[in-house]
Amino acid sequence: MTEGARRRVVVIGGGIAGLAAAHRLRERAPHLDVILIDQSDRPGGKLRTVELAGGPVERGAESFLSGDPAGGPSAAVRLAEQVGLGDAIVHPATSKAAVAAGGTLHDLPPGTLMGIPVDTDPPERPAAAPLLRPGEDVTVGALVRPRRGDLVVDRFVEPLLGGVYAGRADHLSLRMALPALADAAERSDTLTGAVRAALAARRSTPGAPVFSAIRGGMSRLVDAVAATLPDVRLGLPVRDLRRDGSRWRLTIGSTHSPSTLAADAVVLAVPATPAARLLSTAGLRGVPLDYASVGLVALALPATKLPELSGLLVPATEGFAVKAVTFFDQKWSHLRRSGLTIVRASVGRAGDEAQLQRSDADLLDLVRAEVARLIGADRLPDPVDAAVFRWGGALPQYAPHHRDRVGQLRAELTAHSTAPGHPPLTVAGAAYDGVGIPACVTSGRTAADALLEALEG
Ligand SMILES: Cc1cc2nc3c(=O)[nH]c(=O)nc-3n(C[C@H](O)[C@H](O)[C@H](O)COP(=O)(O)OP(=O)(O)OC[C@H]3O[C@@H](n4cnc5c(N)ncnc54)[C@H](O)[C@@H]3O)c2cc1C
Repeated sequence: MTEGARRRVVVIGGGIAGLAAAHRLRERAPHLDVILIDQSDRPGGKLRTVELAGGPVERGAESFLSGDPAGGPSAAVRLAEQVGLGDAIVHPATSKAAVAAGGTLHDLPPGTLMGIPVDTDPPERPAAAPLLRPGEDVTVGALVRPRRGDLVVDRFVEPLLGGVYAGRADHLSLRMALPALADAAERSDTLTGAVRAALAARRSTPGAPVFSAIRGGMSRLVDAVAATLPDVRLGLPVRDLRRDGSRWRLTIGSTHSPSTLAADAVVLAVPATPAARLLSTAGLRGVPLDYASVGLVALALPATKLPELSGLLVPATEGFAVKAVTFFDQKWSHLRRSGLTIVRASVGRAGDEAQLQRSDADLLDLVRAEVARLIGADRLPDPVDAAVFRWGGALPQYAPHHRDRVGQLRAELTAHSTAPGHPPLTVAGAAYDGVGIPACVTSGRTAADALLEALEG
């Protein structure tokens, strides 16, 4: 690097993790030249608000957790406040959801942890040792099925997990999906004890709203964070990342007219597959990770009577393609429009993506027919407007021991980044630290901090 020139950090990936990383870098090190690059023509990744029937509707994520597991506001709430959107934070008008099973709507049992009840009848017999060894990981299903039965897992636990991951209880890592339960299971010889301890460890303020959203839509958060960054470059895929002496050299842009960009340090905030590609050109190995695809069908209906709920979850065992339905305008008053009822249904479970091969028109018809059946109506009225949003390979399906694999990659990156003459590289995003928006924000901020430490000591 030329003496006196500003050092340059490039953040690859402008989803919420990359945005949070770049924001943190600007906040802590305004003397650095920070560039955010994304292949898409807009930042935000899975956060994007679009228009339906003349008003906002979410194409991807609709809300985020309000609280941090350690207490206080979540990282997403804090980021929104930092970029001047504190007053735009809104909460659901109702959070009461139901499970549609056996032709009826069942309330979600209160006092459960992701649908896992504390007690069981007859009471659980203590095991000879704690349920998990230190650091051990299993699937959620492996821990819960033998102790609460298939009905609890299939009817409550899996639909709730599915709402977050589109994933299956028998495949998802307990440590990633329910970290507090995994920790408690290392100290408890019953699931009752472990669930009770995990519930008690929650530091939420009683009565405080669990979820938050942004009035006007999630794109407002994206735009407000992006507006704090001096150099956001869009429509530019990063194709290659390799070391060039003490700096990184990025190859960016289309294959027929690529350009290069030098960087003193890089935050890689893209999903696991493009990350693995770029890590391999940098001489490193990424973390193997499967993703589930999901399709969302948004319907703007003429005012229609719906059950007084925020939405429905549909267990895989019920034979519907639809896995969840959100009654958008009942859940979010900021999305209400007079004379309209807005419904968004999601289709596509991990490992069962055949439904997503359907054309948009087919998917719309299928969703309309299934939502009508789920709410006990003959049919839904013709929509005033409708849209199908497809997210191919969008939701990480963390297998057991994912956290260990991420730990190994980070250890390798730290060793690289702190070796004399090596340019630092850190990773961030849902591929590593959890799917929720607050987890992605924390992941981005932590990656920025680690980079600054390696860069500036
Ligand atoms: C339909 C849906 C609904 C969801 N709902 C919620 C919800 O309500 N609440 C919640 O907390 N979470 C929700 N999530 C999860 C959450 O939105 C995501 O986990 C999170 O936004 C991921 O952020 P990220 O920055 O890690 O990755 P992404 O948002 O995937 O961003 C990665 C970025 O990298 C870019 N990129 C990829 N490859 C390259 C490359 N080679 N060069 C340059 N750029 C590249 C992409 O264009 C993208 O912008 C939902 C997810 C989906 C799909």
